[in-house]
Amino acid sequence: MQTLKEPNLFRQQALIGGQWTPAASGSTVDVIDPATQTVVGTVPDMGALETCAAIEAASAAYGAWKKKTHAERAALLEAWHALMLQHIEDLALILTTEQGKPLEEARGEIRYGASFVKWFAEEARRIEGHTIPSPTSDRRIIVLKEPVGVCGIITPWNFPNAMITRKVAPALAAGCTVVIKPSEFTPFSALAIGWLAEKAGIPAGVINIVTGMPADIGNEIMANETVRKISFTGSTRVGSLLMRGAADSVKRLSLELGGNAPFIVFDDADLDLAVEGAIASKFRNGGQTCVCANRLLVQAGVYEAFAAKLAARVNAMKVGPGTEAGVSIGPMINEAAIAKINRHVEDAVAKGAKIIARGADLPSGRQYTTPIVLTGATTDMVLASEETFGPVAPLFRFESEDEALAIANGTPFGLAAYFYTESLKRAWRVGEALEFGMVGLNTGAISTEVAPFGGIKQSGLGREGARAGIEEYLEMKSFHMAGL
Ligand code: NAD
Repeated sequence: MQTLKEPNLFRQQALIGGQWTPAASGSTVDVIDPATQTVVGTVPDMGALETCAAIEAASAAYGAWKKKTHAERAALLEAWHALMLQHIEDLALILTTEQGKPLEEARGEIRYGASFVKWFAEEARRIEGHTIPSPTSDRRIIVLKEPVGVCGIITPWNFPNAMITRKVAPALAAGCTVVIKPSEFTPFSALAIGWLAEKAGIPAGVINIVTGMPADIGNEIMANETVRKISFTGSTRVGSLLMRGAADSVKRLSLELGGNAPFIVFDDADLDLAVEGAIASKFRNGGQTCVCANRLLVQAGVYEAFAAKLAARVNAMKVGPGTEAGVSIGPMINEAAIAKINRHVEDAVAKGAKIIARGADLPSGRQYTTPIVLTGATTDMVLASEETFGPVAPLFRFESEDEALAIANGTPFGLAAYFYTESLKRAWRVGEALEFGMVGLNTGAISTEVAPFGGIKQSGLGREGARAGIEEYLEMKSFHMAGL
């Protein structure tokens, strides 16, 4: 890794009860820089024993953390937020080194991640219960909001900073304590913000971070009765596994899972705006985002024009290491990701799709792939039903609004959808007909801390950000006061 201004941010031990700790066995997992396939460093390969210790540490810290006033918790979150922004360059470099995205995008992610800490510091002051008119005159009924308790936080590699803050900030604001299991591919971003939380004065045990391979850690989080909630972002496969595992101890769950976003361009769209939105939505993070456009549906009247404009932009994209200036697509996370992208493109071409744009030359390295635009995509292709999770934009042609909606909604996923039209009537009609948790009209960017983020159907349960985000970490207690 290039030199950090604050070398302490690069941590190769896990965090349990305020102690930076190796695995009990001493074994470690290598973390690989996807740009160079070299080892960035190692983290402890922990299992059930350490996870149990982390849960106990979170439980021990819970009583005092819960008793702090909302203003005290808010002040600590504000201090954490300030430190994240103060160290943005180092945090972005750590993120790019382990995850691959261009540095400018990594800075954007740190700002986005920090925005949740600020937002929930503010929301901590607005945890409000309510009173209910009593059926009898000698009683009063009050509804109190209380923290859920110890939470297990399991996060993916594609946003190694923001997926953590989006969960941990509301959890802490509500008065919960947490055990975080970051992705084994990107643990250093988590450990860096764990160190900053310590510096901010967040007490030992409130945030614990266990690292290593997922199965044993996950099993302990699922089975341990002290954990009252699991908040997970990742694939639908693992999400449903966690749901089954959490059933025995009836834990609360928030699940942010996979998507298969349609991006619909109608004949009456502003085409330049639509191309801009498609670039932002499809190619950010090399297409490795849950809300990225997976299927671009373009109406027949503008199909060729849209394809030509998009192809011109994609042909000009530069692929390379995220730390290099001017790079818009970094390496993919691993070789399995490359294999999946290739499988989707080969299947599409075999079924009649045509590659009309194929980015620029590739740098050497096994984890690079060119951005691609495909025309002639059809719903029988694998990329119509699976997340490609790469920089591939397949264009599907449609004739009518009803046909576009049938294709768009024809998926078990329901995370994000986008559409472009200049017609107000169509805007309402289509916006209401799309079966997704988030819909963008004339925009390819819908992520912000102020709006609820989350999916329906197999894209998950619950919402993050916004006012709703903190409710995920609060229980309701109805308090009946009699004999008054
Ligand atoms: P993944 O499901 O493979 O892994 C996510 C996390 O779960 C990682 O920390 C992993 O180590 C852990 N995990 C894996 N097996 C486990 C087990 N048996 N027990 C406990 N934990 C386990 O997903 P990924 O490849 O890291 O991320 C990509 C997926 O995440 C995509 O499907 C993407 O759409 C989804 N995603 C969704 C959102 C959202 O907000 N809805 C955001 C980002 C990513």
